[in-house]
Amino acid sequence: MSVLLIAEFDQQSLKAATRSAITAATQLGGDLDVLVIGHNVNAIAQQVAKVQGVTRVLVADDAAYAKPLAENFAPLVQGIAARYSHILAAASSFGKNLVPRVAALLDVDMVSEVTKIIDASTYVRPLYAGNLNATVQTSEVIKLLTVRPTGFTAAKDGEQAAPIEAIATLGDQSLSRFVSENIQVSERPELGTASVIVTGGRSLGSAEKFEALMSPLANKLNAAIGATRAAVDAGFAPNEWQVGQTGTVVAPDVYIAIGVSGAAQHIAGMKESRLIIAINQDPDAQIFQWSDYGLVADLFDAVPKISAAL
Ligand code: FAD
Repeated sequence: MSVLLIAEFDQQSLKAATRSAITAATQLGGDLDVLVIGHNVNAIAQQVAKVQGVTRVLVADDAAYAKPLAENFAPLVQGIAARYSHILAAASSFGKNLVPRVAALLDVDMVSEVTKIIDASTYVRPLYAGNLNATVQTSEVIKLLTVRPTGFTAAKDGEQAAPIEAIATLGDQSLSRFVSENIQVSERPELGTASVIVTGGRSLGSAEKFEALMSPLANKLNAAIGATRAAVDAGFAPNEWQVGQTGTVVAPDVYIAIGVSGAAQHIAGMKESRLIIAINQDPDAQIFQWSDYGLVADLFDAVPKISAAL
């Protein structure tokens, strides 16, 4: 058995989601090659080499890979796929964009959003917005998986560095073109990996009020800020803050839901949080059924007081 994991990184460092996927990959057994695709990615390859459980780092360095265009990456992975029993990536936007394309090129069925590895071909994954956990088995010769980062702890650095090897690249496939990117620069922790998250709902009423109430609280707690889809749709918070079935799935140590009703699609994205605290003026709000602590209060009164007390 031999496992290939496709790494995801930003300019400076390997993403925490990839470290979690490495933990999942090591549970499959066998050698683990991690593929770094990009341009001038020497420093990233060296970071990957240090992570515990990595057998070898493969580097595909090409100017055509400077931006993560899945249309360019997928044929590269297809080209080396026959050497592996498993091909994995984190179930992030990057992995969800890339792995299905590789599956289509190889003409195999993939398994998405794996939360637990039972054995080399049997996995647990959520169904119906997380209301059911299905145990699924695949008989494909090459098993393609995306793994949910919240299901696995992040692999730490080990004592020894794995060898790094360059592999041949395929260049630009001319199927897509990078136009632009809009990166939110924030001092706050990343939503997907933050240990504390404060999430605001539609009831905050406007983008200005969302900022005025949520930011001081988040700053005091060194928390990431999340939002419900209703708050995002109303324009109170940016898209990438959305927590839930169609947003980011999170599992922080502490999740504080403020003016959030607790719709099933929201719960699907945060119910694995270790401690859930809710503030809602409606004592019958669904969110209280999922909360360890609940405060029945008007958020416009309670939140500034909590921020001040902190
Ligand atoms: P509301 O449901 O309007 O709730 C507002 C809450 O605030 C209420 O409980 C109310 O009692 C409380 N409140 C009002 N005023 C105050 C006050 N002054 N003080 C304290 N409490 C107050 N939603 C997501 O969040 N994430 C998803 O990923 C997602 N995906 C979806 C996918 C699909 C296919 C569909 C159909 C829906 C999805 N939704 C998602 C939407 C979801 O169903 C809910 O509509 C949404 O989560 C509700 O957001 P909310 O709690 O902010 O708003």
